[in-house]
Amino acid sequence: HQYIVGLTGGIGSGKTTIANRFIEKGIDVIDADDVAREVVFPGTVSLKAIAQHFGNQYLNTDGTLNRSMLREKVFSDANAKQWLNNLLHPAIRESMLNQLSSAKSEYCILVAPLLIENDLTQFVDTVLVIDVKQETQIARTKMRDGSNEEIIKSIIASQVDRKTRLEKANFIIDNQDASLAEVEQQVDTLHIEFIKLAQIKNS
Ligand code: ATP
Repeated sequence: HQYIVGLTGGIGSGKTTIANRFIEKGIDVIDADDVAREVVFPGTVSLKAIAQHFGNQYLNTDGTLNRSMLREKVFSDANAKQWLNNLLHPAIRESMLNQLSSAKSEYCILVAPLLIENDLTQFVDTVLVIDVKQETQIARTKMRDGSNEEIIKSIIASQVDRKTRLEKANFIIDNQDASLAEVEQQVDTLHIEFIKLAQIKNS
């Protein structure tokens, strides 16, 4: 059985940056956001169902999903949102669990911004939280995307607060005041710990 680490943190906390360090160590990382995109790739049953339910105008000319149009639709129509969630949530879960179960490394990581919000903790053996202050989330996201502060704040407001997230943590990486070299050390220490925990699970 795979030992699964759920890696989470708010927007701009450093999930991708830190997940990449684990990938460099040979650890298989599955990203919940990638899975959510994959299940509506052209050719999938989910995309066909969306086109049938909402109409072909929700497809781009190249056959991919018109995400912005669908986003607007579900933003203004609660029934549409419910229908879409009922379609996509099980599909995402199934694909995610499939990918995790076929991971080959000593343990594997599920990166999920909404690990806690979407109750994905039930699928993981341990929870690793990437922790930074809200000001840092805003500053780093702005620097990365050039996106506007109000949008970033509204995303932060839609996610669990820092305290709630930390209460769910089994392990925490401090990505606030730590230099990238110090973060690397935290990753090294955790890597050894996760290998041990995976061995215990499988012994
Ligand atoms: P999102 O939820 O938006 O996908 P994320 O949690 O994956 O974000 P990253 O993209 O990894 O966050 O990090 C946000 C930005 O902060 C990136 O530009 C990254 O290079 C930078 N960053 C991450 N960690 C640090 C650090 N310790 N010091 C300085 N900058 C950092």
